[in-house]
Amino acid sequence: MQLYNSATRKKEEFQTHTPGHVEMYTCGPTVYHFAHIGNLRSYIMEDVLEKYLRYAGYDVNRVMNITDVGHLTSDADEGEDKMLKGAKRENKTVMDIARFYTDAFFDDCRKLNIKTPDVVQPATGLIDDYIHIVSTLMEKEYAYFSGGNVYFDTSKLDRYYVFNDHNEEDLAVGVREGVEEDTNKRNKNDFVLWFTKSKFEDQALKWDSPWGEGYPGWHIECSGISMKFNGEYLDLHCGGIDNAFPHHTNEIAQSESYLGHTWCPHWFHVHHLNTNDGKMSKSKGEFLTVSLLEEKGYDPLVYRMFCLQSHYRKGLVFSWDNLDNAVGTFNKLIGRIANLKPGGEVDEAAAQELKDKFKAALDNDLNTALAMTAVYDVLKAKTTDATKLAVLDDFDQVLSLDLLAKAEVKRKEAEKAAAAKSAGGYTILGEGDPAVDTLVMQRYEAKKAKNFAEADRIRDELKAQGIEITDVPGGAKWSRI
Ligand SMILES: [Zn+2]
Repeated sequence: MQLYNSATRKKEEFQTHTPGHVEMYTCGPTVYHFAHIGNLRSYIMEDVLEKYLRYAGYDVNRVMNITDVGHLTSDADEGEDKMLKGAKRENKTVMDIARFYTDAFFDDCRKLNIKTPDVVQPATGLIDDYIHIVSTLMEKEYAYFSGGNVYFDTSKLDRYYVFNDHNEEDLAVGVREGVEEDTNKRNKNDFVLWFTKSKFEDQALKWDSPWGEGYPGWHIECSGISMKFNGEYLDLHCGGIDNAFPHHTNEIAQSESYLGHTWCPHWFHVHHLNTNDGKMSKSKGEFLTVSLLEEKGYDPLVYRMFCLQSHYRKGLVFSWDNLDNAVGTFNKLIGRIANLKPGGEVDEAAAQELKDKFKAALDNDLNTALAMTAVYDVLKAKTTDATKLAVLDDFDQVLSLDLLAKAEVKRKEAEKAAAAKSAGGYTILGEGDPAVDTLVMQRYEAKKAKNFAEADRIRDELKAQGIEITDVPGGAKWSRI
């Protein structure tokens, strides 16, 4: 499989330390608020990557952290603790906030058919491991103690900026932006491994350490959690592109200094979801969550398909109009699958040819847009319906759009509507809404049984839904008022 690697800035053949086995790590959510759909774009694309690796025959061990401590309001470890901020906002304890938003995150994932990683580790559960790494970094003189905190000394590295072509000055400005410089640091990009002192209100959760009671920096948790559950050799590290600097840069700095060898050769970064006025964030514009999509009547899987329609390394623009287009596409796609007749022979040769196209798309830097085209190629193919259904079912192991299940629901609804419409020579004319057709049929049955009160009740019930019935010869006609 050819996969773009942010560390080398080119597409390359994906290779693993142990043939056939992938150790994969994903930066998880900071659980101080709901995830917005921009964050979830990364998790959707990483889910597709994981499922595709499994589909391609790899055995995958995927690990994810849950940040419930140490993530400050700036990624460059300045400012207030995000968890404490969330707890104050809602007048709850930090642990209550963590539990609530962890559950909310996994609810969103379930609705988007995102598989839960093999290992999910809250950051607060592995404090001794971080202390061990920080102690080793101190012994190796990659870290120093200053003003109450332990810092990583970036001047000890030959190469600190691994992901960027930007010069150091540009990046340094990014780090400094709106932030008072921390005078305890020897170098401007040094970062905190262990805090005992913060200018801001104190952290609620603290642990004993050789440097005093305190709490870990944000970056150290991902290194500690990954080394614990993925081992010393990580094959694939994933995250949103905004994590590349400083978070991933710092993860590499501390992990490789600790291990003394290359930690993770391949880095997979998903680009931003944008709105028409720029990058989506929690603090700007409408706070777009999966729950909001549902409240507005959207199926979360339509959002998943919307993400699959574009490449993970391109910015994707979200607007309600764009999502409406995706709804139309999704409904048409499901409708076409619903028209396929189940049963019959599967033509294995034809199926293989279609699967090869799908694999070729995803082998080319996880091109999900082309993989969606391969879905339409199946529908257009000159082969049996049974073959098409079998191939679509196979693709859905990776796409996870519930294609066949949704088509089945649609097929049953259509059958019910057709049966209701023609029952006993009574014809219902309307736009074909099974729920309405059923009520119209019940009204007819009531009238036939001379139960006029019931017939009137149903007429009123439909009226309350904005539907008007007119009796016509041989049946009834309904329309929305
Ligand atoms: Zn991370």
